[in-house]
Amino acid sequence: MNENFSSILEKIYSTAATAGDMASKAVGDAGKKAGEVYSASKLKIKILNIKTDMDILYKEAGRLVYAEHRDEEIQRGRLQAVLLALDDKKEELDELLEALEAVKGTKKCESCGAANCRDNAFCASCGAEL
Ligand SMILES: [Zn+2]
Repeated sequence: MNENFSSILEKIYSTAATAGDMASKAVGDAGKKAGEVYSASKLKIKILNIKTDMDILYKEAGRLVYAEHRDEEIQRGRLQAVLLALDDKKEELDELLEALEAVKGTKKCESCGAANCRDNAFCASCGAEL
């Protein structure tokens, strides 16, 4: 495990306990700030960073599940902490994606994922109601 990776994980584990309480407020603030201040390119960078964080968490979750499968002793609560951290990242990601759509003036189709003009009533790609 490299130094950067383990320091990220340590941070996750140490903050996971309070993360649940803080998550909704932090995400709310981030979304508001994002909508008001950030340009599309800054949002894209933030989105990329969150996706990178999530990849690390997915990897760690997989490692812990496999260790458990091999009957290795894993530190209690670690998997739970990783999963909770993923929940937070996922919420943050959704907020940022929404903010990006607002900045770009597009609306994502819930059915097929295509980006549509904000004023469209129906998806230009699949015809679903927006
Ligand atoms: Zn569609």
